[in-house]
Amino acid sequence: MTWQASVVTLFPEMFPGPLGQSLAGKGLRKGRWAIDAFDIRGFATDRHRTVDDTPFGGGAGMVMRPDVVDAALAAAIAAGPERPALYLTPRGRVLDQAMVRDFVAGPGLILLCGRYEGVDQRVVEARGLLEVSIGDYVLSGGEPAALVLLDACVRLLPGVMGAAESGVEESHADGLLEYPHYTRPADWQGRAVPPVLLSGHHAEVAKWRRAEAERITRERRPDLWARHAGRDRAPSAPCV
Ligand code: SAM
Repeated sequence: MTWQASVVTLFPEMFPGPLGQSLAGKGLRKGRWAIDAFDIRGFATDRHRTVDDTPFGGGAGMVMRPDVVDAALAAAIAAGPERPALYLTPRGRVLDQAMVRDFVAGPGLILLCGRYEGVDQRVVEARGLLEVSIGDYVLSGGEPAALVLLDACVRLLPGVMGAAESGVEESHADGLLEYPHYTRPADWQGRAVPPVLLSGHHAEVAKWRRAEAERITRERRPDLWARHAGRDRAPSAPCV
């Protein structure tokens, strides 16, 4: 079955954007996944096509109106199978590989992209939207976040990544960062490739790679290392 992404946005022309290229683009053309974009402005009801208004309580910026956003969401919901609906926001749960795997296991996603100060919170509550962030920084809109999230998802769909690019050993697949990679020439600017990689001894290579993955994770991401070490005791909560 085709994995169906529906994006609710003020900038539908941003999709599929970069996801029309490379592996994701090939997957799209092969029908492994599909994407449609719903233009929020098309659901405005006044002649100026207003989608936002000033915030109650005062303050800077504008807020996206719940009635207009909800009408656009309703159209996206009606356009495909029942799927989790997400609101991309810096206040959401920070995306990780376990969440991506959960999303990929389902029939697809509906992604609401905010602009300005964001959307009226009542539509988030009324539609039970899962609030997801792509990291602890603020973008000017949800569209780049939607592209990041979709890229992480579609590359894991069956038939999108070839066997050669398989994600089995990559960073975050098993809670560790990946070991470093090397290719020809074996000596470059006086820098030699770790000798074990030239040994042809598969078990030793695997052992070295595992040790490097553990070392790098321990040094760079003590948070991931602690979670990896205690993984069996505290499994992460499912997100959908
Ligand atoms: N006023 C909001 C706040 O302080 O939390 C920021 C609004 S931001 C300028 C506009 C839109 O960009 C948000 O509604 C959201 O859709 C998107 N956005 C910004 N940063 C994001 C992030 N880290 N992850 C996901 N979406 C983000």
